[in-house]
Amino acid sequence: MKYAELRNYVGGAFVPPAAPRSFLDVYNPSSGDVISRVPLSDAAELDAAVRTAHEAFPAWSGLPIKERVQVFYRYKALLEQHIDELAALVTEENGKIASEARAEVLKAAELTEFACSLPQITPGEVLEVSRGVECRIERFPLGVVASIAPFNFPNMVPHWTIPNAIALGNCMILKPSELVPLSAGRIAELLKEAGLPAGVFQVVHGGREVVEAICDHPDIAAVSFVGSTKVAKIVYRRATSNLKRCLALGGAKNHLIVMPDADREMAASNIVASMSGCAGQRCMAASVMVAVSATDHIVDRLAEIARAMVPGKDIGPVITVAAKERIVGYIDEAEARGAKVIVDGRKAVVAGRENGYYLGPTIIDYVTPDMRIAQEEVFGPVLVIIRAPSVDRALEIENASQYGNAASVFTESGSVARYVMEHASAGMVGVNVGVPVPREPFSFGGWNESRFGVGDITGRGSIEFWTQAKKMTTKWNRDAGVNWMS
Ligand code: NAD
Repeated sequence: MKYAELRNYVGGAFVPPAAPRSFLDVYNPSSGDVISRVPLSDAAELDAAVRTAHEAFPAWSGLPIKERVQVFYRYKALLEQHIDELAALVTEENGKIASEARAEVLKAAELTEFACSLPQITPGEVLEVSRGVECRIERFPLGVVASIAPFNFPNMVPHWTIPNAIALGNCMILKPSELVPLSAGRIAELLKEAGLPAGVFQVVHGGREVVEAICDHPDIAAVSFVGSTKVAKIVYRRATSNLKRCLALGGAKNHLIVMPDADREMAASNIVASMSGCAGQRCMAASVMVAVSATDHIVDRLAEIARAMVPGKDIGPVITVAAKERIVGYIDEAEARGAKVIVDGRKAVVAGRENGYYLGPTIIDYVTPDMRIAQEEVFGPVLVIIRAPSVDRALEIENASQYGNAASVFTESGSVARYVMEHASAGMVGVNVGVPVPREPFSFGGWNESRFGVGDITGRGSIEFWTQAKKMTTKWNRDAGVNWMS
């Protein structure tokens, strides 16, 4: 094993398990090698972390926000300084290629930069509402909060929550994905090096048991979750039934509507990048291309670009053997039902890494909306093409999806672009953009079954989630006379 058995991080240190514990092997998806083992923590270990965070909360939340963000200025510099090492760790545990892993850490730095700006955008509000009477609103942190993360961005997704929640005065428990648990430890170490006091940030490893304990713990005030829709529903129901606030982001099935007038080269290259980037394991990945009328020239070009991609160099492996089998199963089933596989990545092998979980980009034409592959999240480098006669039919197909993370349109027509932006049933829409992730200060969050709860997880949208408003009314001027607030 390249890395030692992992430990939880509590009170500023890595702590051994409280009792003999079961562990899961952690794999490198590029080679199939076991690189570490992750403990499956229980409710008692979570409780120890929550108690530590609870003790740290008064001192941390008592600091002015301008002082709290100083930690994140230093932390952002550390992320940049350690980018090679952090990106290599992401590649090792998740499999994504070097440039993608690097982009992920750069995005984490950008998210941290936004947190540094929080003092400038959260000064509160004040107004003299009546003679001598002043109303003001100030935002206060919630206390101990939890962040539960998925496997597909071991470094970036934890940064959707860590900098904002902590800069706003909360103490946090991070529960990383048990498939990619290594990055969290380095994040903890760098936060400590940046000056974050012990107890403000803890990492508790594990799976279902610890997630359930988070939802049930009486001293956790808010739970954020990012993962599949199936688990998002479980977490949202359980956390809110315990009267916590919860924001649970789920899966996706993103539709890209391609019009005949779209710029051929831009559309084809953006769509391939979107469906194959991070081996298609992005909640913003292109999943369904709805090709409106005469678009063969674009389909031909994107197939050409996809065929030229080299697994192992341009595209990393998927996360597990089981994920690879599941994805191949979807492709086989669509083919058996009459769809046409025009680019086939099922047989991808990378020389020297024969045990890696590789798939090449796969494009399937003439898929119909009733097929499973057209409806369910595949989460692999697979693009299905559904043919549609009009933009209205394309929107009908998009609107019918249970999900609603992202949607895009490729066209040169401003009016068609505006029409799709208005009528797509998705929280993040793009025009001639394959991956329409809003960058800071804009917030990230989908619609429908891609998000449960109110608000977004990053940017300005997250401020309300991580804080509560106190409305204060004061009167000090005794000479102001009698008025309706007296
Ligand atoms: P997942 O739902 O399997 O796991 C997410 C987290 O939930 C992990 O920490 C895991 O330990 C925990 N978990 C798993 N099963 C559980 C259960 N039964 N009870 C309680 N906790 C459980 O998701 P994943 O496979 O790690 O990540 C991929 C999914 O995440 C995809 O569906 C993808 O679309 C989604 N995702 C969504 C967004 C978004 O912004 N909407 C972003 C990234 C990933």
